[in-house]
Amino acid sequence: MFEKELEIGKKAVIKAMRLTRMVQQDLSSQDSMTKADRSPVTIADFASQGIICRILKDAFPQLPIVGEEDSAELQKPENKKILERILHYINKDKKIKEILTGDNLFASIDLGNGEANDKVFWTLDPIDGTKGFLRGEQYAVALASIVDGKVQLGILGCPNLEIGNNKSAYGYLVYAVRGEGAYLLNIEKNETEQIGVSTLSDPTKMRFVQSYESAHGNLDLQVKIARLLKMEQEPAQMDSQVKYGFVSTGNAEIYLRIPNPKTPDYKEKIWDHAAGSIIVEEAGGEVSDIYGRELDFSTGKTLANNTGIFVSIPSVHKKILEIIENLAPRG
Ligand code: AMP
Ligand code: MG
Repeated sequence: MFEKELEIGKKAVIKAMRLTRMVQQDLSSQDSMTKADRSPVTIADFASQGIICRILKDAFPQLPIVGEEDSAELQKPENKKILERILHYINKDKKIKEILTGDNLFASIDLGNGEANDKVFWTLDPIDGTKGFLRGEQYAVALASIVDGKVQLGILGCPNLEIGNNKSAYGYLVYAVRGEGAYLLNIEKNETEQIGVSTLSDPTKMRFVQSYESAHGNLDLQVKIARLLKMEQEPAQMDSQVKYGFVSTGNAEIYLRIPNPKTPDYKEKIWDHAAGSIIVEEAGGEVSDIYGRELDFSTGKTLANNTGIFVSIPSVHKKILEIIENLAPRG
């Protein structure tokens, strides 16, 4: 199942990664990286979405794409410079130029304006982890297919992921189709292997992976849980859905995203969790919200029926759900 979707989706994400890597390399060679405004990132966001949407629409004209970006801002006269910079990057790479041009750029980006209420649709985050991208660190290109409110296919392009001490010059893809396992592709070597979550059963040996941005969660509560479980390891910290990739490859056991008390009304976006969640599940892990409910992708662009996100492995999932229920009872 989903053979063609997987094949085309992988190609599209790899092609977008060519561009995002190019932009990020330029960024990190400038010393003013931390001073950069949103524009360089916006460049990569826009172009990545344009590339992926164009490729998907050519292959699957009927399927709506729900992407994070649209071209409205880019079309404003005051953003002409940004537009020029996007065209500069497009023209630098022959393989990207074949897909995206000055003439089809706006329309390509806006192919991602699909409805999240359809029965079947793609969802795309062209650059997940904007802040990591700017820092020259982790980010992901995230694509997923949703059918009847459930993710059926997920692909995460992780340009800067490291597996142990191994790096891939062109990055990795982590991907899964429901019922068929999760896989890691080293793009440089063109080698694919099946992946699985950690098999640890002793919570004291387990490790959290958490957002780099502490405002995206509730770290106080996480620290309490770590103490109760007598966890010995320091959490790993990184931006984006690469965290799901980290759990899927057995590099961490727990990723807990408890809503930050300062932003209690924040609802998670579907494109921030669709691809990652199916990959962890297919790698043998568990994904739910912080109260143990299945993630419900049938409610539009946000996970309106869920509270936070909780990713872990079978040996500890239930135990931590009980702890959360005690420490942070449902309101
Ligand atoms: P991460 O690097 O995993 O923290 O994910 C980055 C994503 O966090 C961004 O794409 C935002 O959509 C999302 N985000 C923004 N504000 C919040 C918030 N207050 N709570 C949780 N997530 C947020
Ligand atoms: Mg984004």
